[in-house]
Order: sequence, then structure tokens, then C-alpha cells
Amino acid sequence: MNCPACGHGEDKVVDSRSTKDNTAVRRRRECLGCGKRFTTYEYIETTPLMVIKKDGRREPFKRDKLKAGILKACEKRPISPETIDEIVDGVESVIQKNMRSEVTSRDVGESVMQALSDLDEVAYVRFASVYRHFKDVNQFMEELKNLISRNEQWNGRPARQDGPKEPGE
Ligand SMILES: [Zn+2]
Repeated sequence: MNCPACGHGEDKVVDSRSTKDNTAVRRRRECLGCGKRFTTYEYIETTPLMVIKKDGRREPFKRDKLKAGILKACEKRPISPETIDEIVDGVESVIQKNMRSEVTSRDVGESVMQALSDLDEVAYVRFASVYRHFKDVNQFMEELKNLISRNEQWNGRPARQDGPKEPGE
């Protein structure tokens, strides 16, 4: 690495430590030409999936955060933890395949809503109400209307995938 002060190509590492969040190693280096010190960071080479929020800020895609939102929407619904993990996996892989390295929070929300709308209507509406930040009752009713008309189109759709309940369950 060339020294930023004199351009010399050799240096020695005088200090090496992890950053606070443990995602990088910070190294203090000393130029063997002029003795100036400079800092380099070493990161794992990944392309983190960035989520663009409504206000334009970017933040790394966080699986746990997404899962927490889905768990909340699925509270007390007949949805197993495995199913929730599958939804999260599905959303994550769809995002990774279809998008480049950036995705809007809206895309994430829509993917989850798509998955939930096939699974459980209550969970869907709960999630939608959080994700879309319904401003008022009218907006909420609009969403319900969409849901109902979609259900009408779905008459005759195959039975739920989690199978029929056994008697006495
Ligand atoms: Zn130098």
C-alpha cells in the first residue's frame, strides 16, 4: 500500500485491532520511507444488501429486524416458527436474486405482504398496517377491500399448505 504522504510502497503494521462492531480490522501502519502513520481497514468482501428507506437513508438489510416484524404480525396466529423462517428465507433470497445490491424498504415490505397474504389474512393485514403506515381508517379500509376482492378471485384456490387439522387438535 503506497504511503499517502510520500508514495513509498512499504510499511509496517504498528497496531491491529477489530472495530467496535467486529466487522472490520483497523490497522495503523507506519511508512518505511517517511515514517508517517496512516490507517487501513480490512473488511470481509461481501456486497451487503442495503435497504433504502422512505426518507432516502440507507441501512443494511437486517434479517432479524424483518423477522421481528413478521413475528409480531403472526402473533397468536396458527403459523409455526418454521413457516416464519421460511418466509424470511424466501423474502431474503427473492431480494438477493432480483435486486442489485440495493432494495427499497417498500420492496421488502411488499415481498413479505405477498408471502403473508397467501398464508394468513390477519397476519397480512397486521403487517400491512405497520409497513404501509396507514394514515387513516380510509386507507386501511382500502387495503381490506383489496384483500377481499383478491380473496374472491381466489375462490377455488388449493387448500392451505399447512394441511388439515387433525380432530381434537
Ligand atoms: Zn511515506
